[in-house]
This record gives sequence, C-alpha cells and structure tokens, in this order.
Amino acid sequence: MVFSCENSGCKIGIMGGTFDPIHLGHLVLAEEIRYQFGLDKIIFVPVGTPPHKGQDNISDKMLRYDMTRLACMTNPHFEVSKIEIESEAISYTINTIKKIKALVHSEHVEMFFITGADAIMSIESWKDYEELLSLCSFIGATRPGIHVEHLEEKIEHLKAHYGAKIYLTHIPGLAISSTDIRNRIREGRSIKYLLPESVEQFILDNHLYL
Ligand code: ATP
Ligand code: MG
Repeated sequence: MVFSCENSGCKIGIMGGTFDPIHLGHLVLAEEIRYQFGLDKIIFVPVGTPPHKGQDNISDKMLRYDMTRLACMTNPHFEVSKIEIESEAISYTINTIKKIKALVHSEHVEMFFITGADAIMSIESWKDYEELLSLCSFIGATRPGIHVEHLEEKIEHLKAHYGAKIYLTHIPGLAISSTDIRNRIREGRSIKYLLPESVEQFILDNHLYL
C-alpha cells in the first residue's frame, strides 16, 4: 500500500490495535481525533504478533484484518495497513512507524500515533522509545477512570527528557471493548449496535468467538 500525501503539511494518524474485533469505540476514537487534530487520514494497523500477548489468545491475523477493512470501508479518510500482519516478527511500534514513513515518500508528513492515554504511562518500556518519541507525535486519548494528574506529570517528564510531542485529548466515553463483545458472543448475548453491521455479519458467517 502506498500512502499518498498530495498536500504539503500532510498529517497522518496511526491507530494500532488488536481489533479482535474492531468496534464502534475504535471508530469513534479515530474519527474524533481526525477531526480534532485536522488529520488527513487515519491508518489502522492491526497488530501481527503483540510483544506481550503472543498469538495464542487472539484470532487469526487475516480475520482481524478483514474485519478492520470492512469497518473502515465507509470512511474515505480511513485506511487499513497490512504492515504488521505481513511480518512474522514481533510487532514493535518503532518498526511500524519507520516502515510507514518509508512508504509515504514525503518529507512534509507529520505522523501521530494514537493510543489510549494509559499507554503513555508505560511508554518508556517500549522498544527504542527514545528514537520512537523523536519520530512521531503521540495522541493519548483519555477515557473516564483515567487519572489525568499522573499522566500530565509523565508527559512533562517525557517532554523535558526526550523532547517528546504528546497531546492529550478527551474522547466521549463509549464503554465498548473487544473483550466484552467476545464474552457476549460466547454467552449467546446480542452484539448489535456495538460494531458495524458488516463486521457483525462477518463474525456470524465465520462462526467467530463461539
Ligand atoms: P481488548 O478488550 O481485546 O483488549 P480493546 O477493545 O481494548 O480490546 P484494542 O484493539 O486493544 O481494543 O484497542 C486498540 C486501541 O483502541 C487502544 O489504544 C485502546 O485504548 C483504544 N480503545 C479501545 N476501546 C476503546 C473505546 N471504547 N473508546 C476509546 N478507545 C478505545
Ligand atoms: Mg485493549
């Protein structure tokens, strides 16, 4: 996939996740951040092999990729990348950002890595975090229940020590998670309206999460 950036000063959001399955919480988060930060596009990157989870407890990569594509089809600003699922290696954000930068072919692109604000707290445990913080900006989305005071201290520390560019933003809370959707399916409960209909149908057709 080639990420075209016609205008100079193009801004791209990278939204990583397991997407097992993708749901409206992810989509609202991405769309809200796209609007708030004036991003030209959001690239969804389904994780291949997560550093901490391994692949045992997550669905097949291609199924997660297909569901993410179905969910993103109706938004012209959303794209889905196979960068992580095509690689057998453990998926480290630093490698993903470098690969996407190489594909963009433009020096005028600003990259924003979108993540839950809680991830910012542990960013110094990520692979090559100092280099990563110099390669892209971070947008941490807060959700109800997150203690913002500790987060702001952490962000000040990251800015002072590494020159990091980190933005915090509040996203309307949607209490939806993939874990809850998987549990509902196992228990025979409805998942309607928690995720796009096309993804719900894909789950039914492929007998997922039973
Ligand atoms: P699981 O329950 O399997 O952990 P999840 O719903 O947390 O799945 P992930 O694929 O792990 O989904 O999340 C990808 C990104 O989306 C993370 O940065 C996470 O913080 C964010 N996210 C997930 N659900 C929501 C939601 N309801 N509202 C806002 N952000 C969300
Ligand atoms: Mg999660």
